[in-house]
Amino acid sequence: MPLQLDDHQRALLEHMGLRLDFLPKPAPDAPLTPDVAPAPTRPAAAQPATSPPPTTPTAPALPLGPRPDVSGADWSALQQAVQNCTACGLCQTRQQTVFGVGATPAPDQGAIDWMIVGEAPGEQEDRQGEPFVGPAGQLLDQMLGALGLSRQAAPSEGRGVFIANVLKCRPPGNRNPQPQEVTQCLPFLKRQIELLRPKVLLAMGKFGAQALLAEQWPEVATTPLGKLRGQIYRYGDTPLVVTYHPAYLLRTPADKAKAWDDLCQAHALSQAP
Ligand code: URA
Repeated sequence: MPLQLDDHQRALLEHMGLRLDFLPKPAPDAPLTPDVAPAPTRPAAAQPATSPPPTTPTAPALPLGPRPDVSGADWSALQQAVQNCTACGLCQTRQQTVFGVGATPAPDQGAIDWMIVGEAPGEQEDRQGEPFVGPAGQLLDQMLGALGLSRQAAPSEGRGVFIANVLKCRPPGNRNPQPQEVTQCLPFLKRQIELLRPKVLLAMGKFGAQALLAEQWPEVATTPLGKLRGQIYRYGDTPLVVTYHPAYLLRTPADKAKAWDDLCQAHALSQAP
């Protein structure tokens, strides 16, 4: 179904600095790509020799706890398991866990529309216990609003979106998630996806994409985000769209139009019968 925008939604997009001339996006008529997209034909761009050395803080040197086993957990047991998690050192520095926000699983109502996967809570998210509440979250909300979607748990017209992160705890100083933290935390995200059964997954940024694709396609770790986006992947049976992280879009507004393209593609997929 082509995307119909009302005046309010068009005004929102104009406010975000997005062109409207590429709307409405047609639903893709090509079949979904196979489970794993072909490896990119060009290698990842090398870092310029002048790149400053990374200044991110190191992880607290604590032994890892057991990897969480939430395989049979229902939604509330899963929330509890996240809240009590001590599987990695981030539990020592967090103010609170950030489980996610939005639609909840309703077995009688079928799948939710979208699940969005970001990276990790930042300072404000750690304080408030909700993902994407800072400026990047405001941009995300504006883009979702333009598609008639919202993080509210009971949206009108039966449409629902759930927003979560790969990591449920804030890395100190907002440094990048470390591989062992992702490994420890991933069972939570996987169980969230199993219980929510979204019609489409949207990975925002490289950590979301890597978390969902690396098992089937290890090259994702070395493929730049700009090369990952623009095609449809699958996570199990669920179509997966990769797009830029909204924090990146705030720094690089020129790429907002590409992100909007990606969201329109996710929208079309979620409308497919
Ligand atoms: N960035 C993320 O990836 N997630 C948040 O919750 C906030 C900022």
